[in-house]
Amino acid sequence: MTVSESFKPDVPAPDEITGPWWDATKEHRLVLQRCARCVREERAGVQHPPRALCVHCGSDELEWAESGGTGVVDSFTVVHRAPRPELAVPYVIARVRLDEGPVLLTRLQEREPDAWSIDDRVRVAWVDLDDGRALPVFVPDAAPAHETEKGS
Ligand SMILES: [Zn+2]
Repeated sequence: MTVSESFKPDVPAPDEITGPWWDATKEHRLVLQRCARCVREERAGVQHPPRALCVHCGSDELEWAESGGTGVVDSFTVVHRAPRPELAVPYVIARVRLDEGPVLLTRLQEREPDAWSIDDRVRVAWVDLDDGRALPVFVPDAAPAHETEKGS
């Protein structure tokens, strides 16, 4: 099943900080920044969106770690009136809380907009952009929840 035919939003150009994140999307890999100092001190230290410094401790010892791509719906809204005429409505904008902790602002797809609920399990899917990058969206996760990170 294709995720969407009509979802081609404007997306920002990669910069020095977000470049590696965008490069990973070309391979349909969802990556998160992880702070080496926080990991040494036994904090999760995982953040999104990409930043120059760790939001927890201010360190610049950030590395990229691949997300398991699963999480839960934290909140969502159904958009019935498109901000631009080429966007098909209705569609669902959501905050998805990944199992690693960070929250993504994203879209929910493959289910009727009114059928979603808070805390639904979701997994990542990809919408390819014309320039080779891809955008992560989320679809229902039929598989049982599996442990990716303990305690998060
Ligand atoms: Zn840190």
